[in-house]
Amino acid sequence: MLYVSTRGKTDIVSSAHAITRGLAGDGGLFVPQSIPAMRMTDIKAMSGKPYTERAVDVLLQYLTDFSEDELRQCVNAAYAPEKFGADPAPLVQVNENTGVLELWHGPTSAFKDMALQLLPHLLTRSIRKTGETNKVVILVATSGDTGKAALEGFANVEGTQIIVFYPQDGVSDMQKRQMITQAGKNVKVFGIEGNFDDAQRGVKEIFGNTALSTALGTKGYSFSSANSINWGRLVPQIVYYFSAYVDAVKAGKIEAGDGINFVVPTGNFGNILAGYYAKLMGLPIERLLCASNSNNVLTDFINTGTYDKRREFYKTISPSMDILVSSNLERLLYNVTDCDSARVAEYMKQLNTEGAYKVDSDDLKRIQSEFFGAWVDELETKEAIGRIYSDYHYLMDTHTAVAWRALEKYRFLTSDETYTVVLSTASPYKFADSVLDALGDSQPAGSDAFAKLHELNAKTGVEIPPRMLALQELPVLHQEIVAADKMELAVMTNLL
Ligand SMILES: *Cc1c(COP(=O)(O)O)cnc(C)c1O
Repeated sequence: MLYVSTRGKTDIVSSAHAITRGLAGDGGLFVPQSIPAMRMTDIKAMSGKPYTERAVDVLLQYLTDFSEDELRQCVNAAYAPEKFGADPAPLVQVNENTGVLELWHGPTSAFKDMALQLLPHLLTRSIRKTGETNKVVILVATSGDTGKAALEGFANVEGTQIIVFYPQDGVSDMQKRQMITQAGKNVKVFGIEGNFDDAQRGVKEIFGNTALSTALGTKGYSFSSANSINWGRLVPQIVYYFSAYVDAVKAGKIEAGDGINFVVPTGNFGNILAGYYAKLMGLPIERLLCASNSNNVLTDFINTGTYDKRREFYKTISPSMDILVSSNLERLLYNVTDCDSARVAEYMKQLNTEGAYKVDSDDLKRIQSEFFGAWVDELETKEAIGRIYSDYHYLMDTHTAVAWRALEKYRFLTSDETYTVVLSTASPYKFADSVLDALGDSQPAGSDAFAKLHELNAKTGVEIPPRMLALQELPVLHQEIVAADKMELAVMTNLL
């Protein structure tokens, strides 16, 4: 299996190269040259396997320059029970035709761990395979969860250095606490004066700055990315769509071969895109529901074909979805245009120069046949948390609640009662203050993040993730704040 750039077909590389480099030379994203197929018999056979072996089955299809043994070592290390508990991705049945796929049992209590615990293993092996001798510098722009998950994945990994930028006022107390207490001899964390899109733009500019990368190259560094633009981030996410499907069959919710829907709380479009790849591989997915918060640029795009980032940016109670430029959409465009890289490059250029583009009507038709878009405001999000807790005694975080509520809108509009899996992307404890608020709890002003954990625990009896409690004892190690246009300088000062 080889990989090409979404913006040009000249750059044909192995998976190890795609993972080592992160972003293609022309600014595009690496995509597989063809989509491997899984037969229903292969899918059924996953049923009797643990998550790790299901992962080997899927990864083998894409990472063909890795041996089965290597992949097994990588996944066994990444999804070890001491990190994820007995099942890394349990499917919980909440009502008759809805299950919740809990993707937050990893070390940082958010779904980013599913990919970022595996990526360092894939990346360090990829580096060796490509003969890269430079130290790989991982640059991360985060809206909260990626930063911590990447830090946790890469801390003290030989041959790597990791630098994380987060919007200083755009993450939750707990997310910030998780990042600024991160230990490790190869880690650095900066707050920036700006929002997530500023952080992401800054990182992209650093990647695109050839003078800088040449200068750093002579010092023995090359850049890579742990953002979901890296293929090594995306491919582990395909696994849990298959895993949820076979678990739904096991639970008697569907028969093997039946259609299923997934609803995904979406920001950068990485998670839901992995579901789209699963569908292209042969998983019987009927619809992928793309759920957004008030930053509803994707809902508008799916409904109208116009992607327009020129709009107000809202800080919401589901901050990991506060994104106006969803990078991975580029990979979807590549597929729906039948690999027309010139057209994709043109759309991306318009987005950059004018802030908007409109896909042609054939592209839009194809997108609408696969995806449904809905958005959910703050009140609806809280209302859903409270109602689902009182109806089913199931406690969900704000991001998951956006997805749940979007599903209700879809069902109301379409009367489609197909069994649907809601992807749950964070532990309710990661956003404890909003969740408490949603449960109608009036919190004493100024009560700290840890008091809220205990309060939520007292109210619901749901266990607090032990690692989150332990943060209270850890010293703050990173306090630097930089302006959004000084990110490059921060990187240079740190490395040169
Ligand atoms: C990152 C994140 C999302 C959005 O996922 P994308 O792959 O960026 O679409 C949703 N919820 C949570 C909790 C996240 O951390």
